[in-house]
Amino acid sequence: MTNKLLSALPTTIFEVMSGLARQHDAVNLGQGFPDSEGVLAVRQAAAQAALHGNNQYPPMMGSTDLREALCGFYHRRQGLTIDPADVLVTCGATEALAATFLGLISPGDEVILFQPLYDSYAPMVRRAGGVPRFVTLSPPEYRFTDEMLEAVVTPRTKLVVFNNPHNPCAIVHDAAQSARLARFCVRHDLIAVCDEVWEEVVFGDPLFQPLYSYDGMAERCVKIGSAGKIFALTGWKIGWTLAAPPLTRAIARAHQFLTFTIAPPLQAAIAVGLGLDDAPLIEMREGFRRSRDRLTAGLVAEGFQVAPSQGTYFLNIDLPGSGIEMADADFARLAVEQAGVATIPVSAFYDEAPVTRSLRLCYAKRDETLDRGVERLAKARKIATD
Ligand code: PMP
Ligand code: GLN
Repeated sequence: MTNKLLSALPTTIFEVMSGLARQHDAVNLGQGFPDSEGVLAVRQAAAQAALHGNNQYPPMMGSTDLREALCGFYHRRQGLTIDPADVLVTCGATEALAATFLGLISPGDEVILFQPLYDSYAPMVRRAGGVPRFVTLSPPEYRFTDEMLEAVVTPRTKLVVFNNPHNPCAIVHDAAQSARLARFCVRHDLIAVCDEVWEEVVFGDPLFQPLYSYDGMAERCVKIGSAGKIFALTGWKIGWTLAAPPLTRAIARAHQFLTFTIAPPLQAAIAVGLGLDDAPLIEMREGFRRSRDRLTAGLVAEGFQVAPSQGTYFLNIDLPGSGIEMADADFARLAVEQAGVATIPVSAFYDEAPVTRSLRLCYAKRDETLDRGVERLAKARKIATD
């Protein structure tokens, strides 16, 4: 076996940095998870369902309750009218993405991806036989133009992947950008894979406008969501796709061979959660906003340059702007090994020509965790600049 390549897939940066965080007993501001327990009513519903409900294989497409609850939720929050038959429940957004790529891409199909990009997109597009075509976006607004889109489209282009709100840039693409992308998809008859897992973690306009709602998009969008983000229960891995019947059928064929179905008590509990009023979600969002502001203020007081965060659990610091002349991956390693704080180098979110000047920090943490993180980052900065 020695000369055989056992995996063509990379190790994710989240596994690398959380592993180093454990090894060095570091404050973990890297991988995106809150250090709180998630919405209580939803956890109670899961416990009840595990004790008194069905624990055998639910339907492959997902439980009827959850699929109906998702339609109700998106109608209330985003004004969408979706048939429960167009919903597929998956093992987190990660499986939703994988099933979408495996179900919709044929070998040689081209897929437009915006850089920086979530780390699973490019490896899984390639595993599905697709050929990525990158559009690189630049701070502070990460805007794209018609010219940038037209430069990468070819007769073989089949999909565009659009992550909004955006991880790791922590921006929300505005209505003008969404409308531009929608027109582009219609003009070239493309499918838009919309990774909208952060739709409920935004701090501006509280109601997120999905690409699905733009003219001509309902028939060509795969809208992907995650209960992990909506209810701060990242470990549960309940996700879904919403898409027109031919798309849903193709994605479901891949899902049957990936996981087939998802833990029934968790599906039952998320269905309950989606039917609750919005108060716990608003409260949670306000908590994240306070944490974002606390981490930003702490970092700024220590001389770091922080980019504003419009949503997600993340903010980015600019290293040269903070007086640090090291590449992001080197500084991230120094910070975890010598100062005891884990972060994510943003270069990990590029497939080609990485930009190496930013670090992503997760602020969905308790005050004391954030304060210790700031202290340790200040220590890392001192080591790097002395
Ligand atoms: N897409 C994006 C943009 C994400 O940020 C994440 C997780 N943070 C995922 C997909 C994966 O979501 P899940 O944990 O539900 O698989
Ligand atoms: N999506 C999370 C993040 O961006 C991590 C998910 C994972 O660990 N795969 O930090």
